[in-house]
Amino acid sequence: MLSVEEAREAILASIAVLPEAEVGLLDALGMTLAEDVVARHDIPPFDNSAMDGYALRAADIAGASPQRPVELAVLGDLPAGYAPEVAVERGQALRIMTGAPLPRGADAVVPVEATRSEGGLVHVMEEVARGTHVRRAGEDVRAGDTVMEAGRAVAAAELGMLASLGYAKVRCFRSAVAGIISTGDELVGVEEELPPGKIRDSNSYTLYGMVQEAGGVPLRLGTVRDDATLLERTILENLDRVDLFVTSGGVSVGDYDMVKDVLGKLGEMNFWKVAMRPGKPQAFGHIRGKPLFGLPGNPVSVMVSFEQFVRPALLKMMGRRDLFRPTVTAVLDAPLGRREGRTEFIRVIAEWREGRYHARPTGPQGSGILSSMVACSALAVLPEEVGRLEPGSEVTLQLLR
Ligand code: AMP
Ligand code: MG
Repeated sequence: MLSVEEAREAILASIAVLPEAEVGLLDALGMTLAEDVVARHDIPPFDNSAMDGYALRAADIAGASPQRPVELAVLGDLPAGYAPEVAVERGQALRIMTGAPLPRGADAVVPVEATRSEGGLVHVMEEVARGTHVRRAGEDVRAGDTVMEAGRAVAAAELGMLASLGYAKVRCFRSAVAGIISTGDELVGVEEELPPGKIRDSNSYTLYGMVQEAGGVPLRLGTVRDDATLLERTILENLDRVDLFVTSGGVSVGDYDMVKDVLGKLGEMNFWKVAMRPGKPQAFGHIRGKPLFGLPGNPVSVMVSFEQFVRPALLKMMGRRDLFRPTVTAVLDAPLGRREGRTEFIRVIAEWREGRYHARPTGPQGSGILSSMVACSALAVLPEEVGRLEPGSEVTLQLLR
């Protein structure tokens, strides 16, 4: 048997990164940066006001208070979006809005609440130090800085940063298209009646969600019966449309031979027993250069195997630097009886309480108990050599959501 780490390492070592391309800014959302993003100018690009108020010279209003206001001549109004046409001299102020550029001569802003206006004059009732309520050019980002590095996923904040810096286009790695195939004579579609002996195909939906949540493009290629020629045809027909295949079912002992025959004939495939629970039987290899993951059919095995093997591989293909979920140490709130010998992935509810993470199992942990995946927010990873765990024991969690 292979350890989970050995299987994962073997998989990742054989995964190539997809080509990169220049994409429009909005299309970059969810993709991975293929270039370091360097600031082409300062943000903000100019000194500007952080408040609605008056731009003035701090020295002019030294000692100002409600009892002893200082009177300044108002030069005019400066809304955001316009360049100042005047400089502020001694004894003068310019009414200024948030975001408007600080005029020459001014070195501070007094908020409007600390002033009283009267005709062409303003009475300032508060003294401020130089620089008060002024946002300096480059205080967020300096021209020339590397703001984001290649390998980072583009989410909302990254999108905003790219926009601020004028990146209408950006180089990203291409998103991986994952062809998803369910296998099994027992499967019927979600819209069909359930005849005796049949179950609905849920795996192609969980896989669809997991691929998309990882930033990939899921493509459901349908359900194939336990029939070697059908599986072969589905794979071959779709080779040019996908970057990888993910199949479910047919790799455990009963169906082993059918899938093994087909996949073994089509490409270089490994059929592993991985020391993990759930998800012991795993098939992985390449068919005409496209990675194929043959996951076991049980609904939880599919999701746990995807997490451990497919997701990191998918992220690697798409150029991501961080391939793994965040992990934390948590204390168990309930006992866990278990047999040692395999890495076990227990579905748990993680909770931050009293300064640390706590974890409690969702309930029954069978590989067919899909409700455990619905209920859980993390996977507790129990190493091969660990046996029964008492409440209070520390466990490592992979945080899923
Ligand atoms: P297998 O790995 O093909 O032996 O399947 C193991 C278990 O998972 C069986 O109980 C199957 O009925 C179930 N199963 C296989 N494929 C799916 C699927 N697409 N959706 C839901 N359950 C499945
Ligand atoms: Mg099957």
